[in-house]
Parts: sequence; C-alpha cells; structure tokens
Amino acid sequence: MPIETIFDTMEYGTAPEDRSIALQWIANHGGLIGPYVNGAFAPARDDLTIRNPATGEKLAGMTLCTKDEVTEAVQSARAAQPDWQKAGGPARARVLYALARLMQKHARLLAVTESLDNGKPIRESRDIDIPLAIRHFYHHAGHAQLMPSALSDRVALGVCGQIIPWNFPLLMLAWKIAPALAMGNTVVLKPAEYTPMTAMIFADICSQAGVPPGVVNIVTGDGSTGAALVDASVDKIAFTGSTSVGRQIQEATAGSGKSLTLELGGKSPYIVFDDADIDSAVEGLVDAIWFNQGQVCCAGSRLLIHEAIADDFHNRLKARMDKLRIGDPLDKSIDVGAIVDPIQLQQIQALVQANTAGQTYHAQTPVPEGCFYPPTLITGLHPADTLMQEEIFGPVLVSTTFRTPAEAVEIANNSKYGLAATLWTENINLALEIAPKLVAGVVWVNATNLFDAAAGFGGTRESGFGREGGWEGLQAYSKPRQPLPEPAQVTPFTGQGAAADDIDRTAKLFIGGKQARPDGGYSQAIFGPKGQLLGHAPIANRKDIRNAVQAQLACGWGKTTGHLRAQILYYLAENLAAQTSRFAERLDAMTGLTTGAEEVRAAVDVLFTYAAWADKFEGRAKSVPMRAVALAMREPVGAIAALCSDQHPLLGLVTPMAAALSTGNSITLCASAPFPLVATDFSHILEASDVPAGVVNILTGPQADLAPHLGAHMGLETVWCLSGAELTQEVQARASSNIKRVWQGAAQDDHDSWLDAGTEIKTIWIPYGE
Ligand code: NDP
Repeated sequence: MPIETIFDTMEYGTAPEDRSIALQWIANHGGLIGPYVNGAFAPARDDLTIRNPATGEKLAGMTLCTKDEVTEAVQSARAAQPDWQKAGGPARARVLYALARLMQKHARLLAVTESLDNGKPIRESRDIDIPLAIRHFYHHAGHAQLMPSALSDRVALGVCGQIIPWNFPLLMLAWKIAPALAMGNTVVLKPAEYTPMTAMIFADICSQAGVPPGVVNIVTGDGSTGAALVDASVDKIAFTGSTSVGRQIQEATAGSGKSLTLELGGKSPYIVFDDADIDSAVEGLVDAIWFNQGQVCCAGSRLLIHEAIADDFHNRLKARMDKLRIGDPLDKSIDVGAIVDPIQLQQIQALVQANTAGQTYHAQTPVPEGCFYPPTLITGLHPADTLMQEEIFGPVLVSTTFRTPAEAVEIANNSKYGLAATLWTENINLALEIAPKLVAGVVWVNATNLFDAAAGFGGTRESGFGREGGWEGLQAYSKPRQPLPEPAQVTPFTGQGAAADDIDRTAKLFIGGKQARPDGGYSQAIFGPKGQLLGHAPIANRKDIRNAVQAQLACGWGKTTGHLRAQILYYLAENLAAQTSRFAERLDAMTGLTTGAEEVRAAVDVLFTYAAWADKFEGRAKSVPMRAVALAMREPVGAIAALCSDQHPLLGLVTPMAAALSTGNSITLCASAPFPLVATDFSHILEASDVPAGVVNILTGPQADLAPHLGAHMGLETVWCLSGAELTQEVQARASSNIKRVWQGAAQDDHDSWLDAGTEIKTIWIPYGE
C-alpha cells in the first residue's frame, strides 16, 4: 500500500511487544511471589490470583498478608530505621541513584509487566509510567544528598505505611517510596490487590541495589492488609485511593499521633474557551480522559465547553474518538487498553446505564470481547447531574456548556473534589486569571496530565491533603528536629468574689466584625489566682461556630494582596503596642504571673514578623525537564479554626491569627478557656485596626464543647489544635466529614512551619513554544 494511502486511511498493523521477559521473571519465582520483608522474599502462599485483565489469564499467585505478617514487616522496618537515618543523606542518595539506574536497566521488564498486570497500553507504561517512576528516584536521590544542608532542621518521621491503588502501580510506588527513603524513613508498602507485580520486581531491584534489609518492605494483600497496616505501629500513613477508604483511614488514625497524607479521588474540569486551539484541545482530551482508560484520579473527566463552539467541538471530538484503537495492551499501536478488572468494568457500566440525562455517544470503533469499554462521551448534562459529580473512573467523559469565564469557574468549582483542572485558551491573560480561581491542587494550561518529580501533586477539599513531589512533598516525610512539647493544661482559678462595681462587664464574642452575644445566652465567671472576680466571658456554642465560619467564608480575605495584609498586620501591631500596659495588667491579673508585659511585647513582635512575611512567603518556578514552566503558587488553605493554647493566653491567640492572616486565611480563634478575657479585649484591637469583618472571629468558652463541632464543620478546611492531644483526638475523629486538615502547631519561632500550615501549593503548568 502506498504511503500516501496509509496516511489517508490511517491503516495500521499490530506491533505486539514481547511478553516473555515478564513471564520469565515470574517463572523464575516459581509463579508464586511472597511478600518482601527484611530484604528477602518470604515464602509465598497462593491466596491471591493476579490476572492479566486483557485476557483473564493468571500471571502469578501471591500471599494475602495477615495482621501478623504486616506486624512482622513493620518490625523489620522499625529495626532498620535508626541505621538508615544515621547513614546520612549522601549515603542514602547513593542507594536511590542505584535504584534509579537499575530501574532504567530493567525498564522494559517493568513496562511489559505493568501492561500485563494493569491492562494499560504499553505506549503509556513504556513512555510515561516507568520513565516518570525512574525520574522520581533520581530526583529524590538529589533531595537525600541535599538534606543535611537544605533541610538541616528536619528529621525523618520513622516508619511509613504506604498504601497505593492499581491505576499507576509503579509510579505510585515511586511517589511514595522515593521521598520517604530520601528523608531517612523506612517503609512498608501495600500495593493494590489487582496490580502488585511491578512492586515485587521493584523489591527484587532493591536487593540488587544494596538497599539495607528492612528499609523497604512490601506486603501483598487486599483491603484487610491495608487496614492492618493502618492499625500497625507506624509513624505515618500515606494513602492514595478512593475518598471513601481515605475517610476510613482518617477516622482510624484519629488520635494515634500518626502523620497522614491522603491523595484521593477527583472529578476534574476540562475547560475549553471559545478562542482555544480546538484541535489541540481535542487531542488534549484524548490524554485527559482516555489515558489509562480514564482510570486516573486527575482525569479531565468533566468537559466544560464554551457554548459558542460546543457543537463544532463535540463533532470533532466524536470523529477523534472513532479513530481510537482499543485492544491488546501489549500492542504498540493501541490507544486504549483493558479495564483493570471485571469488577471495575461493571461499576463503569452500571454508572453509565443508570444515567438517563443527556445524550450518550460510544466511539464507533471495534471493542474486543472481555474487560474493555469504549471511549464514551455524554453531552448535555447539567452541573448537578450525578455523572457530573461522581467519579466514574473509566473512559467516560461528561460535558456541559458555559457562557462566560465567571460561569466556567463557578461550574468547575461546583464539586466536592479539588484535585486538578485543565483550561484551554489562546489568551494568556485569561488563562492566568482563571487558573488561580480554580479550586484544584494542579492546573494545566493548554496541556493536560503533565507530571514531574520536581512539581508537587495533590488536592484539596475531598481530593485530600498533602503534596507528592518537589520540596513540598518532603514536608510530608520529615518533621522538625525539635519535637513540640505537649502543651500544659491549666485549671481555671475559682473564687466567689464580687465585681468591684455594679456595671455589667460580661464580654462578648467577636463574630463577623461585631461584638456578639453568645447564641446560648450563657457566660462564665472568670476569677484571678486570689479568687477575685475579673469578669464574665461568654460561652460559645455550635451556632456561634456556624455564624463565625459563615462570616469567614464571606470575607474575601484570600483575594487580598500580601501588601494589604502586611499593612493591616502592622496596624494591629501598632495598636496592640499602644495598649501594652493595659494588656499586661490583664494578663498578670488572670495568670497571677508578672510576665504580662513581656508577653505583650512578644505578641507585638509576632504581628510585625508575620506582617513582614505577608508579601514574602513565595512560591517557586519548578525546574521540570520539558518545555513548560510549572509554577508552584502558595494559596491559602481557606477557613481555619484554632483551639488556642492556655500557656500564653495572648501570644497563643495572636500567633495563629497572625500566621493565618499573613497567608491569606480567615480564622476563628477559640481562646484559652481559663484565660479568655485577654481575647475578648483583643477584639477591640481588631475593631480599631481595619481588619475586615469575618477575617478574625473570637469565641470563648470550654474548648471541649467546641472541638467536636469544629471537627465536623463542612466549611472549615483546617483546624489547628494547639491546646493538647486530647482535643486533637476529638477533632480528628470528626475531621473526615470533609477530609479536613488537622495540625498541631509548631514552635513559636518556627515561622516556616506556621506559614506552611497556612498555605497549600497549587502547581500551574504552562507549556511554551510553538
Ligand atoms: P481503594 O481506595 O479501595 O483502594 C486503594 C488502596 O487501598 C488499595 O491498595 C486497597 O487495597 C487499599 N484498601 C482498601 N480498603 C482499605 C482499608 N479499609 N484500609 C486500608 N487500605 C485499604 O480504591 P480502589 O482501588 O478499589 O478503587 C475504587 C475507586 O477509588 C475507584 O473507582 C476510584 O474512584 C478511586 N481511586 C482513586 C485513585 C486515586 O488515585 N485518587 C486511585 C484508585 C482508585 P486493595 O486494592 O488490595 O483492595
């Protein structure tokens, strides 16, 4: 056939990759692969049948690890951790480099096995999954090398339990293991039941690379094995998977002291403006939703298309869908491979069949028998339709239209998720205006699904918290060198004294920029150390929390500039400084100490410090190995509530407030219960300092009554639990309601940690060149 005709018809032949390399590796292990613990494969049981989803054939048998076996793996990791940490960053870097080089050497084995095990096209495993996984180890070898100088104030967490899903088996392993090892942690990783094969090859590579026994442990199994790992004596759980399991894990780890990062589901918008390069945007969609059969947490699964170009766009998209080739994942000509498992296929079918809204179009392309699903487009949906909201996790794109950029943003953000977003426009001004407005951890401009080890990835809202990759990802695998002491609990003074005069001195709450009586109408007497009555403090309840958060959500502080925030914080500092003696007297009267003046000066200094930081806590431009800039923008985490510590009633109130405001967050401060009057006094400083309504709210009353409601509140993104472990547990137990971040504070002078806690990185990718 002449080449011209081939270009016309796009006829192609099959180009199958040889699978024998993978089958040989399995055969060398006798077809049965045991968990990898303490540097060796343990004897295997044939509990789990690992299948090739494209054919249904059995690839291998594996052990379903029990609780005891998980415990054994954790013990091995625990025993290995001190020496691995002591070995130092440069020594760990050598091991990580060795891992990267050996993965490169075995890249073909890894790619073929990944496609056999998961069903993804070999083009993807060969050109995307495996190279990105290797890059992760190279990149983090560098972080290990630099740790002693660049992160000298941070140390490893200890033993990390890591649970990964089936959609990017080796890549997710790399995202988890590389940073953990670089920072001096040891790990126990549980791959998904469907796709453990490449993790076991990685284990083999660990032995070859000289990874000391116990540093990497891999336990195979199902959800019960994952749950056992969550319960085990580990210092951190890093989880990628569904929001429902993420929620269970957040509940299970509440009060355990375990660090937690959650990378969960998404329903990411793919926005096409009317000035977009339509053919590129159509091609981008192929990568957004048919990459890995749409089984991608950040898949651009919600197409929002400008009404003016919708018909043209949909027609071109359908024509492109009809050309996609579905079939044998090991065929290099294939675009769309197999769905990971018949159960997942049934879920996709069920969701699409249950939908009665819009028009459904299946690609007119041959679909093989078995675990395959055709590329599908559902147009004409409304934002509230189930399929516009629920993650399908398959090759199904849903679509709706918009008329204005503002409407596009509104529809895009109308989701419980906030993982990724894509936007297409030839207008760079529009792109850079829209990108910050999208609630997402990653935004791609005129491109989609770009990843790199140097650029952070992760979500917000019910897509989870924490970042993987880059400097920001290292936070999640290290902690400050100096542990934070547990804040002392202070028992309120009691007394019976009467007020010095008849004037009612019951203080008020401060909500929405106003002095507010407590909803319940109750207040409590506050006594000094000699039993003298100092005043009455209101007792806030759940309704007061709701009012405060409502005011926070309406305040718009996140849209202000750092310059403005600095001016207001400076003004607060000046106004507080002007009343030093009044606040010092109040502090001394409440605490019985004589350190009031010192504490006021420290609080003023904190305000000046965070004012200074307000326009200097910046993002980075990431050095990614492609023709793109990846901007790591620091964004406020959103509405924060803080349970303030008793130890320094004023400083403990002002520090979280200043850090939150500096980084663009609003905050509701639950003041120290024994010493609330300095907080109610402080509300007058707020009134006098041009702080917009709702940016700071002050509640008083027993924190134990407020903590559960803060934990459960759907509007709060974060609770800072600064008053001790007991209330932290209360908050954590309820924080899974909306996958809330819970943070326990940092040393007073550890400004970076406070500012980090107030921000989350959004990575905005902008490719360049013609
Ligand atoms: P899951 O969340 O169920 O599984 C993810 C990982 O957690 C797997 O290793 C799984 O083990 C393990 N696991 C399951 N139950 C528990 C538990 N109770 N405690 C601890 N670990 C547990 O996701 P699935 O893989 O089953 O996929 C279901 C849905 O999740 C998808 O349809 C999709 O919506 C979403 N998903 C999101 C991903 C993302 O990257 N955000 C990735 C994959 C899925 P095992 O697999 O052995 O059961």
